[in-house]
Amino acid sequence: MIYLDNAATTYPKPPQVVTAVTSALYKYGANPGRGGHPMSMATAEEVYRARSAAASFFHAPGPECAVFTLNCTHALNAVLKGILKPGDHVVTSCLEHNAVLRPLKKLEEQGVSWTAAQVVPGDSDATVDAFRRALRPETKLAVCTHVSNVWGIRLPVERIAAMVHQYGVPLCVDAAQSAGVLPLSLEDGPDYLCIAPHKGLYAPMGTGLLLTARGEALDTILEGGTGTNSISLEQPGEMPERLESGTLNVPGAAGLRAGLAFVASKGTERICRHEVEMARLAYRGLKRLGARLYTAEPDGAAYAPVFSFNVEGVPSEDTASFLGANGVAVRAGLHCAPAAHRFMGTLESGAVRVCPSAFTSEKEVQGFLAVMTKFMKNSKEKV
Ligand code: PLP
Repeated sequence: MIYLDNAATTYPKPPQVVTAVTSALYKYGANPGRGGHPMSMATAEEVYRARSAAASFFHAPGPECAVFTLNCTHALNAVLKGILKPGDHVVTSCLEHNAVLRPLKKLEEQGVSWTAAQVVPGDSDATVDAFRRALRPETKLAVCTHVSNVWGIRLPVERIAAMVHQYGVPLCVDAAQSAGVLPLSLEDGPDYLCIAPHKGLYAPMGTGLLLTARGEALDTILEGGTGTNSISLEQPGEMPERLESGTLNVPGAAGLRAGLAFVASKGTERICRHEVEMARLAYRGLKRLGARLYTAEPDGAAYAPVFSFNVEGVPSEDTASFLGANGVAVRAGLHCAPAAHRFMGTLESGAVRVCPSAFTSEKEVQGFLAVMTKFMKNSKEKV
């Protein structure tokens, strides 16, 4: 299989990650923080190592600033619902995933209002300005994606952070598509980073990360056992356990630590360069074939290495299912991001998304283009 659906989750995972997950099942089989016996303590130490690695990868002040979540959606919900109260206002962008928009919709029912700033691809000044114009005196948070999961459009999050900070507003960045691919640091301005480690950090599915710049306690969306201060019925105030109720995904945390080490050993810059090269090859090939492309080609600067296309007159699902039947994995439809499709005028048609990973080879991209050549020839003959 030629796997170009890495924006959904990366595949394959590096062998180190597979080994770390498997050996965690053998070595770290007791519940961390729930017992004083040696295996429980060894497991807690492994969790601590993973937490510390995550905190230092994104330059958080300390391990208490790294919260393990179920996925990136959970991390985004934790920030939005942990901060916003009735009467508050939020600024977001017009390219958001439902992981941001659905919590906002829910909060809207509780009296929170929000404004979507219009992103101008490739024009950071105009984008930052749009965010500035969307601010109101009651704005308590800005939240935006770093990279559109459909179009690869990159938002100038460092500049947005600097601007909103002038108004005393914190910025939460949805880094689902960028962590492990683009430079990303809490020292560069974001106050909260929500991460999908199962994508660019090559961790297993069922992992998520919330990183906070100051480690302050947020309101909880889930309460329960934390292994600490069990006598009290109040949720502990200390981070990260305040937000980590219930048993942790220990094999996931061990896999995440190995994934972080894999990305660090390759270097995000090198990974990004490789992915941009592969995405560009696919983009240019599709262009030559006459596919409909909606954005400029991926360059790593204005556009990250993920893009979407269509074949004129063909539903995106039909293109994806032909590719699937011929050994190429891509995703069609709306990619849980109707706003991003509305932005590009593809809400009706959807689009076919292509996203390479660190493992994608030139031969695989050529294989994908060969299938597309066959598909486009077939569809032209049908017309
Ligand atoms: N945000 C963006 C931009 C995404 O692309 C995704 C997943 O595709 C998410 C959030 C949600 O990530 P998860 O599936 O880990 O909850």
